[in-house]
Amino acid sequence: MARRPTSTVGAVSNSAELDVVDAVVVGAGFAGLYALHKFRSQGLSVRVFEAAPEVGGTWYFNRYPGARCDVESVDYCFSFSEELQQEWTWTEKYATQAEILRYMNWVADRLDLRGGITFNTRVTSATLDEQSLRWTVVTDTGETVTARFVVMATGPLSAALTPAFPGLDTFAGEVYHTAHWPHEPVDFTGKRVAVIGTGSSGIQSIPLIAEQAEHLYVFQRTPNFSVPAGNRPLTAEEVAEIKANYAERRRLSWRSGGGSPHIAHPKLTMEVSAEERRAAFERRWDLGGVLFSKTFSDQMIDEAANEEARKFYEEKVRAVIDDPALADLLIPNDHPIGTKRICTDTNYFQTFNRPNVTLVSVRNTPIESIDPTGIATSDTHYDIDALVLATGFDAMTGALDKIDIVGRDGRRLREDWADGPRTYLGLGVDGFPNLFLVSGPGAPAVLANMVLHAEAHIDWIADAIGFLDDHGYAALEATPESVDNWIAECNQRAEATLFPKANSWYMGANVPGKPRVFMLFIGGFAAYLDICAEVAAAGYKGFSLLKGA
Ligand code: FAD
Ligand code: NAP
Repeated sequence: MARRPTSTVGAVSNSAELDVVDAVVVGAGFAGLYALHKFRSQGLSVRVFEAAPEVGGTWYFNRYPGARCDVESVDYCFSFSEELQQEWTWTEKYATQAEILRYMNWVADRLDLRGGITFNTRVTSATLDEQSLRWTVVTDTGETVTARFVVMATGPLSAALTPAFPGLDTFAGEVYHTAHWPHEPVDFTGKRVAVIGTGSSGIQSIPLIAEQAEHLYVFQRTPNFSVPAGNRPLTAEEVAEIKANYAERRRLSWRSGGGSPHIAHPKLTMEVSAEERRAAFERRWDLGGVLFSKTFSDQMIDEAANEEARKFYEEKVRAVIDDPALADLLIPNDHPIGTKRICTDTNYFQTFNRPNVTLVSVRNTPIESIDPTGIATSDTHYDIDALVLATGFDAMTGALDKIDIVGRDGRRLREDWADGPRTYLGLGVDGFPNLFLVSGPGAPAVLANMVLHAEAHIDWIADAIGFLDDHGYAALEATPESVDNWIAECNQRAEATLFPKANSWYMGANVPGKPRVFMLFIGGFAAYLDICAEVAAAGYKGFSLLKGA
């Protein structure tokens, strides 16, 4: 499935008025936008429904201060069109939310996508008619559309999570969630602010909120590993060089473990001398960002290798925190480095040296309640004026769970997944013919550059649709055996790594009552693409090919 840009951009007729279509796509983030373009260009009629009033998905909603991508901008953008990738110019190594949203709006205009999207409309159910093998899709605005294919581009990180803090609704001040940040500027000047949560969203926003707030209280339950992003403006020379060599950069990304052109050290961690190991960590640290966990290829498999990376990390972080007791609290000791997504920051740990910032460790003294004036932990009350919830998402399954998806024999997807999500390749589910998931459980998804991942999924789905049509089939449906085998393979691969050692959202551990299973394919982006390509080349091995009624 290694590819190069082939598509040209151009206007296609709008289909928002049709109620019988070839395909319904749910969501207009990166995945939904590309799906609309791709399906249209192969002659399908398409309706896209988007709950938000605009395109953008993640980048429409997550407008908190400091929100940026953690995959380099020049990689975190569409690759399918050489025209698009040459015309757009990124200004920073890691683009801001605003710049990414501008890019997505530009793409939507450039490809004439808006007319195919019905905004402010949430899909509430999708029900299979077993006779016709068509889906009936119903929205919260009362629309009903029937489609042969349903593509869930609903996002792995689009269902924001607000913990059930007793009394939260009694708080008299302002409350913000990082994933639902207001569109108007928020001014914390002169205010006592609390941020609850120290994942990627908290860690990106805390340094900027601290600059404004009179006092900032950071409520941390579990410290996270965070590596300086090393963000900076891109120079005109760099951009020109990247554009001249985009094909090679993309080729490396498609053949990589994570969808960006990173190459790990050629040797294993313990095969090199202490000096060489340190030099490799230093080089990667200076480059900045999440790829620190891939300095050596065995860091996520071998405990000794991981410990070398962790020790290096600890030394770097301790060096920038003035108070050693604070450093003890801010440095994780409960999970191997990289087994939760590494955060990337700009001056996060330095922020705790400020006199107006207090770290409130709630590991042993949990938040018990929120009242009109502030937050009560089990030992103290904190008076605050504003509250920021950086408390994450019901990841991978949350957005799908909210839709009543009914397949064969009236089976509901959310009931089928009660013990954990079941998919084949992360793309199909037994009992749900022609329902496709994008960047869902069972795929590498959030372990890879998600823009390329979305392109790969949509291309695979588009090819599958082409295959069905060319061979006179109505539908394709994962067999129960292929789903069982794929889950077993995903589990087996995860168990061979250090990932299951962390209470991460990859494991569903952040949502009370959610089954604890590792929800991703961990074998690497390129390896996954090869498997998907082999399945297709073998006539969609593991799927039943169904004739119409
Ligand atoms: P989304 O962008 O989540 O879009 C899904 C859309 O579906 C949403 O607009 C939602 O409103 C809509 N939707 C959901 N349910 C319904 C429904 N029932 N009816 C109608 N509409 C519905 N990934 C990376 O690879 N690199 C990064 O640097 C990176 N940074 C991130 C930063 C933040 C703050 C967050 C939260 C995530 C980040 N991610 C990153 C992951 C990010 O989610 C993906 O990169 C990507 O944007 C997902 O695109 P998508 O189209 O699959 O889903
Ligand atoms: P997250 O990583 O799940 O972090 C949520 C935080 O809230 C955690 O610190 C968690 O603590 C805390 N929390 C939840 N419930 C709590 C409670 N009851 N009491 C105290 N603390 C509580 O969510 P996120 O920061 O939004 O990030 C999610 C993912 O989105 C990231 O991993 C990443 O993939 C993506 N993202 C990327 C970027 C980027 O840099 N480009 C930015 C933001 C998000 P515990 O750990 O103890 O549960």
